[in-house]
Amino acid sequence: MADPARRLDTNVAGDFFVDSTCIDCDMCRQMAPGVFEEVGEYSAVTRQPSNEQEVRQSIQALLTCPTGSIGATGEYDVKSAMADFPMVLDRTDEVYHCGYTSPKSFGGKSYFICHPQGNWLIDSPKFLPMLKKRFEELGGIAFIFLSHRDDVADAAKYADAFGATRIIHKTELKSQPDAEKVIDGIDPIKLSNDFLVIPTPGHTEGHCVLLYKNKYLFTGDHLSWRDTGLRASQAYNRYSWPEQTASLKKLLEFRFEWVLPGHGRWKQLSAADMHQALSDLVVRLDA
Ligand code: SF4
Repeated sequence: MADPARRLDTNVAGDFFVDSTCIDCDMCRQMAPGVFEEVGEYSAVTRQPSNEQEVRQSIQALLTCPTGSIGATGEYDVKSAMADFPMVLDRTDEVYHCGYTSPKSFGGKSYFICHPQGNWLIDSPKFLPMLKKRFEELGGIAFIFLSHRDDVADAAKYADAFGATRIIHKTELKSQPDAEKVIDGIDPIKLSNDFLVIPTPGHTEGHCVLLYKNKYLFTGDHLSWRDTGLRASQAYNRYSWPEQTASLKKLLEFRFEWVLPGHGRWKQLSAADMHQALSDLVVRLDA
């Protein structure tokens, strides 16, 4: 929980606030967009929640803040909001956002897929008993896909708790040395009818994305949505920007509607519009 003594001056008066430990990961702004905004190098509460839905969203933001930088001074039902995670992302009830982002992955998002042949965790949230219990209620975790070395967070603890198979590229193994399934090379690998691992070297050498049902693309730190278009971050590239741009072009061969990143915004468009958005990004990068 945030420290009132470190409350940022940029917050408006009222119960909810952000303190100076904020790492500007954007999570709260995505979860409660009418309440949190970026001000300078931090988030701040620029309008106090004014109805039940906004209060709930603000508590969800408080719960999922990786650094515990959000505080609330009134009496709120935080306990019942804990059960909101993992949170369904679309109406199919099969893809969830886990919440509870970890400071170990700098607030990277993680996702959960309910699947008849075993559930998947994509990158890892904090290991918390209440989240573990929710995963149990949803049928456990059979596979953990790790996009790259930075976002593994507590994957080993979840693998241990559920006997799950961790999947990671060979060149990222240092972060998860005892992973059960190792991806090698740069060719896409079909793991079942629904799951395709696509190596996308660039952000890191062995970065991979996961395509589910030709609809959901879990993109790690390779690709995200910002404002009005897709984006890739040269500033945070850690291996090779030319390789990352080449890997982005490679994704034009695939059909998907959702981009679900570790950092940055998720987005759903029609497959045609998503393809156009990716083409636009490739053209911008080439220019
Ligand atoms: S979720 Fe927490 S760390 Fe991330 S921007 Fe909001 S207050 Fe800052």
